[in-house]
Amino acid sequence: MQMLIDGRWVEASSRERIQVYNPATGSVVDTVPRAEREDVRAAVDAAEESLKKWSELPAIERSRILLKIAENVRQNSEELARTLTLEQGKPLNEARSEVNSFANCCEYYAGLIGRHRNVQNEFLTGEGFFVVTKIPVGVVGAILPWNFPVSLLGWKVAPGLAAGNTFVVKPASSTPLTDIKVVDLMYKSGLPAGAVNIVTGPGITVGEEIVRNPKVSKIAFTGETGTGKKIMEMASDQIKRITLELGGSDPMVVFEDADLELAVEGAVWGRFRNCGQSCTSVKRLILLEGIAEQFISKLVEKVRTIVVGNGIEPSTHMGPLHNEQQREKIENMVEDAVSLGAKVLVGGKRPEGEEFSKGYFYLPTVLTNVSEEATISNEEAFGPALPVYVVRSEEEAVELANRTIYGLGSSVWTKNLERAFRVAEMIQAGTTWINSPPIARAEVPFGGFKQSGLGRELGVEGLEHYYETKSIQVYDYSKGRKWRFPI
Ligand code: NAP
Repeated sequence: MQMLIDGRWVEASSRERIQVYNPATGSVVDTVPRAEREDVRAAVDAAEESLKKWSELPAIERSRILLKIAENVRQNSEELARTLTLEQGKPLNEARSEVNSFANCCEYYAGLIGRHRNVQNEFLTGEGFFVVTKIPVGVVGAILPWNFPVSLLGWKVAPGLAAGNTFVVKPASSTPLTDIKVVDLMYKSGLPAGAVNIVTGPGITVGEEIVRNPKVSKIAFTGETGTGKKIMEMASDQIKRITLELGGSDPMVVFEDADLELAVEGAVWGRFRNCGQSCTSVKRLILLEGIAEQFISKLVEKVRTIVVGNGIEPSTHMGPLHNEQQREKIENMVEDAVSLGAKVLVGGKRPEGEEFSKGYFYLPTVLTNVSEEATISNEEAFGPALPVYVVRSEEEAVELANRTIYGLGSSVWTKNLERAFRVAEMIQAGTTWINSPPIARAEVPFGGFKQSGLGRELGVEGLEHYYETKSIQVYDYSKGRKWRFPI
């Protein structure tokens, strides 16, 4: 495939290409251009050029185009989902639901266009009035990870286009294909040339050029906390607007009065969806001691039923990890926990058999007796391994939940709503789900406390990050004094 710059299919100036691999088979799915800094500059220029046209388009037209994009994405969802499974590894059903969530996001923000009211108010002194308006930030650089390439594109372009901004998008180097197809559909839906440009290439060149380019006013980044820190540092040079959606180590706390069947399903869904590679997912399971034994036994029974395989097969529940590095990271975390006394109740190794020999498969794993010192207790576990901790009280549960540097998601399972709210307020995380596994929704703001991020995506709050606030003050000389210097 090629890149889309200024609405045209283009090659990289270097003519070099990047191979995109299928994580289930190791085979090459396709290739994309390896862009250079000059290709990024061309994309930024195209986005800048199209800014006036897009932002001045009547709001109703922008809304119609977003709705058309959603319609076209839904109509092509089967092909998009297949491409996503081939390049990312997730099961086809999960890919379908991700493509669907992109369309939901476009529809939600299409509905918000033109809804906000500009504020007009009198000065407190009565000497005139002021108007507060919202204007688009300008050209936005969207930098995406590989775990949810399509939905996270939607989280950025849908509110950003709704607010009148234009984009240069850099997908992860290992998952550019579905995003390119989606941007193509955006043009087929009536988006003006240059409003969304997609440039493929390494973070170190393409990503950095987007962040450092002075014509780019804002960076919307999703990825690892370490990369986010680098981006924040680079962006500080020009006090560039940034939103950062970073890693997490979400706790799931289950109290004795929870519906255990639902909670077990929630833990399994929350941990093993996308092979454990979701920013918000159940990364640490915290059980009150009264139910721990019963819960763990139901959990292990359920985990044993998970069918691991190639995501393209309808029978597969959990696909491979995205690459060898991810698999090694999770293997090392499990080994480290075991060396500090953890017990592997299920999984803890790669599956055996010819069908698994070329992909990055790892069995769904549950660990108990996990030390507080273990890496998995403190760092983001981005793979299918679930450490379980047993606590004696609500205080202990909250203390353990808050022990990491992260604060993205969390969940509380109990039938006592008073307790649920009390604990939700004490957990330092951007979202707490009550009796539900973590799932993002277009209408609910999403983002992290602590080192899990900066700013919010989704909801009305997400839209705010794509505006500058402009105050216009009108002084009325018939009501106020004349300005004279010296005062
Ligand atoms: P990553 O390694 O940080 O990469 C993310 C993106 O940044 C990729 O497009 C990458 O390009 C690019 N990049 C790398 N170095 C860069 C640099 N120096 N300057 C500019 N761009 C650079 O993250 P990942 O491994 O793809 O994604 C997994 C992480 O994302 C996990 O930590 C997960 O928790 C987090 N995540 C967070 C959320 C959330 O909403 N909070 C959602 C999803 C994922 P290349 O691909 O070319 O290296």
